Amino acid sequence: MLPEIQNLIDLQKADREIRRLKDEIAALPRRVAAIEEKLAGTKAALEKAKNAVKADEAARRKFETAIQDLQGKISKYRDQSLAVKTNEQYKALLQEIQFAEQEIRGHEDKILELMVNAEAREKEVKAAEADLKAETAEIEKEKAEARKVTETDEAQLKEWNARRDQLRAGVNSDLLQHYDRVAKHRGSGLAEARDHKCLGCQVMFRPQTFNEIRSSSRTVICDSCQRILYYDPAHDTEVAAAAEATRQRRRAHPKFDASQAWYYTPEYGESGEVFLLFTNSKGGSSRQIFDAATGRHIGDVLLREGEYRLAFPEDLKPDTIRLNGSWSDQVMEEWGGELPSGVLDALHRDLNLARAEAKAHGGQPKAPAVSAEHPAAS
Ligand SMILES: [Zn+2]
Repeated sequence: MLPEIQNLIDLQKADREIRRLKDEIAALPRRVAAIEEKLAGTKAALEKAKNAVKADEAARRKFETAIQDLQGKISKYRDQSLAVKTNEQYKALLQEIQFAEQEIRGHEDKILELMVNAEAREKEVKAAEADLKAETAEIEKEKAEARKVTETDEAQLKEWNARRDQLRAGVNSDLLQHYDRVAKHRGSGLAEARDHKCLGCQVMFRPQTFNEIRSSSRTVICDSCQRILYYDPAHDTEVAAAAEATRQRRRAHPKFDASQAWYYTPEYGESGEVFLLFTNSKGGSSRQIFDAATGRHIGDVLLREGEYRLAFPEDLKPDTIRLNGSWSDQVMEEWGGELPSGVLDALHRDLNLARAEAKAHGGQPKAPAVSAEHPAAS
């Protein structure tokens, strides 16, 4: 991996951590405010319950005073009744007394009602007081906790900011400017390239682009989302699957008479390591050459008369290694003259297996037999 890209990965980590810490620091006062709001609600409820008790007490005093007044009236009527001259006057006073007594009973009922009510009111006040006490304790705890967390967060933030400055100093200023600009608009300036696509925007890469990202030959920017790309081999499912397959199964041997045959040659003129692809069809054969490192097509497709082993004997030298691999014409047409990284991986994987196998048998990998009497594989 390019050191600048590693710095950017670390920078992105630092930027994310800084954002998380800032969010957390900002969220704590909001949390405390929410509890305080709840506390204010409980205080209001307590106030209301206390006021209701006061109002009941005032009502009770009012009824008691009214009863006293009525009792005063009744004794006045009784005094008057001793001095009346006529039966009518006596009856009228008696009626007044009865009215007053009836009114007193009414007031007494009301007082009784208020007394029963007072028990419920008392409970309401006590419950509100208990809530207030619990909430007050809670808010004190929350505040202390918030202060503690904020202190820790701020200390961490300081460290991360210092680390961030250090990392930024290790990245070329143009690249850094690009990273900042994309991060501002998209939330992140860097994306992983995994399984042939950009994890930032999910767009697929061309095989050559993916190979370049993977080989870290230069800094590659996603055409579609502009994020700077990096490759982590630990996340590559193809590589992981290949490693697992290698672990689990032995190498399959190529079919001797297959119409499509792949070979590896460590030295091919000035091209160095190459993969050769031979195809037999209708009495003739063709040869294509691909750079083993990049998968790029080298030269033109060469056509000759006869089956490839007889037509291209100069290519099938003793250090040439026959490989597994077969792709349909339709699939190969889509490659556009370059091996996709999946194919390139498969060939390299098989090459490694062939070498390991040869080593285990104590010699060179079996060279493909030019003559049909000594097939390389069975
Ligand atoms: Zn992208």
